[in-house]
This record gives sequence, structure tokens and C-alpha cells, in this order.
Amino acid sequence: MAEWQTQRRQLIETALAMNASGVNQGTSGNLSVRAGTGFLITPSGVPYGELSPEDLPWMDLDGQWQGPLKPSSEWRFHRDLYRHRPDAGAVLHAHPVHAGALACLQRDLPAFHYMVAVAGGKNIRCTPYATFGTEELSRLALRGMEGRKACLLGHHGLLCLERDLPSVLALAVEVEHLCRMYLLCLQQGEPEILPDEEMARVLEKFRHYGARAQGEGKGENP
Ligand SMILES: [Zn+2]
Repeated sequence: MAEWQTQRRQLIETALAMNASGVNQGTSGNLSVRAGTGFLITPSGVPYGELSPEDLPWMDLDGQWQGPLKPSSEWRFHRDLYRHRPDAGAVLHAHPVHAGALACLQRDLPAFHYMVAVAGGKNIRCTPYATFGTEELSRLALRGMEGRKACLLGHHGLLCLERDLPSVLALAVEVEHLCRMYLLCLQQGEPEILPDEEMARVLEKFRHYGARAQGEGKGENP
């Protein structure tokens, strides 16, 4: 009997929900959840609908893994986020269309809308490009995530962390929605960017309302 049954089941459910939400297609994305002294992660190249809880590989923070299936080829930035970010309970990486388009334009998502603060700062950064699965990509991702819970990976996609699986999916859906809105704005010209002091006020209000008020996507945002 494999350990962490609840996390295993929730990881598969969230991976399926990630594809149903349109944030990801096929097996291009990957999802993980902290478990014990390491984390469980979706395996490489297996459709989520074919996964059983005991199939999921478990990896420690040194990158040693166990399980019947090989971890996702992007295990490095998952491992490095769990190593360096105590606030990471779950990590999601996907190739959503709009966040991906902005990442291909190599553009940060600026404070064109106050909800950009959902990721923890006044903007959501886009990292330079590096080959998938490399240490270089992981290093760039960690830097892009400094003080943030989301970043765009240049010419690649979206990376998010949150305290748990439902929250990380909600954050990814919100960021993808914001990228879509921003790209629509750009078709009409450059939208005005909210001043730093306004974004500081929004961030303070988010802290006051608590994490759950930020990214639920149910319309109760202030
Ligand atoms: Zn990817």
C-alpha cells in the first residue's frame, strides 16, 4: 500500500481538472504536491485518465525517486521550488494558450488590472528562455518566482505554486484569464498600468482578506 493516499488521489483529480479547465492540454503540463520529506509528481507522458494513485512517483529533495513510473521531465523546478520555497505545498506547470502567447512575446504581465496582485506582487514576470528540463530553466524559474507565486517561462508556458492543489489550480486559471484579458487590451494599444502605490494598497488588502479571498474565481473578489 503506497503512502499518502489522499495526496495521490487529489493529485490525479487536480490534473484531470487542470485539463478540463483548459489550462492544459494532453500531458504537456505537470503537477506535484508536497508529501513527507519530498513530493509526489505526475509521471512523464502518461494521460492523467490512465493513472492510478500508486503509479505516481515520489521524489525526495535530492532528486532521488521511487515508483513504477518515471517523474515528469520537468521535475527539477518542482524539486527546487519545494527546496527553496516553504510556502509551496503544490506546484503546477502548464502550457495555457494565453499565458503561453505572452511568454512567447517574452513579456511580463504588468499591473494593467489589480488582480495581477493575486501572484503576490505588482507584476508577473516572464523569464528568459531555457531548454525544458534543464538546471538553467529551473534557476531562471526560481528567480522569476522571487516574491511571487506565479511566473511565465519564456517561449514555454506558466508556472504556479500555492499552499495546496485546489489553490494552485485556481491561481493558474486566474493568471491565464488575466493573460487573455491583457492580450485583448494589447489589440487596442497599451493599457495604462496601475501605479506602484495602488498595487501596494491592493496587496495589503489581499493580505487582510486572507489567501482564500484572492484566487477562488467565484466572483467574490473585492
Ligand atoms: Zn512545459
